[in-house]
Amino acid sequence: MDRLLQGIRRFRTDVFPSLRTKFEGLVRDGQQPRALLIGCADSRVPFETLLDVGPGELFIVRVAGNIVPRYGTYVGGVTASIEFAVTQLPIKDVIVCGHSHCGAMRAILEPERVRDLPAVRDWVGFSDDVRQHVHDLGPDLNEAERVDRAVKTNVVLALDNLRTFPCIQEKLAANTMRLHGWTFEIETGRVFEHDERTSGWRDLSA
Ligand SMILES: [Zn+2]
Repeated sequence: MDRLLQGIRRFRTDVFPSLRTKFEGLVRDGQQPRALLIGCADSRVPFETLLDVGPGELFIVRVAGNIVPRYGTYVGGVTASIEFAVTQLPIKDVIVCGHSHCGAMRAILEPERVRDLPAVRDWVGFSDDVRQHVHDLGPDLNEAERVDRAVKTNVVLALDNLRTFPCIQEKLAANTMRLHGWTFEIETGRVFEHDERTSGWRDLSA
């Protein structure tokens, strides 16, 4: 906690002065982010640092496993935040970003890990299809490869589920919004993007 309190004081003295005008403008004019990012809550993925964005630039929804339930199957913070951002903000791009070594993906692959965590168990259940998909890839994958495939499959599933939101369908039909699937590799700092046409993953860091 001391570490965090020191951070607040340092922000006020060292960082805020240079951002004061920016913040005043954001208060006066409101936020106008062009991108919505849905990412995992994992503390090892520092989105603002990774994407080099400042206040007001990126609307971020962080939730365990960057899971997006299909429209109509769940109402909660994630769906409300998506609905708000897509209908009330000038969002042009929606990004779902998974990451390597995601604990939520391990929970999906091995549900017994979260047997005693009912909220986690129910939440990761929205991505149950991921387990079947990874299972169908066969027994030859090792643990790390299985998690990697789960991370990527889960991002693609989240994009599919985003397309079930009427507010997103509307923007996609009008060609005013694009969806992107990314993964962040913690150990290398690289970001990969899903290519819908080839189903491959392209290194955006190169
Ligand atoms: Zn995660």
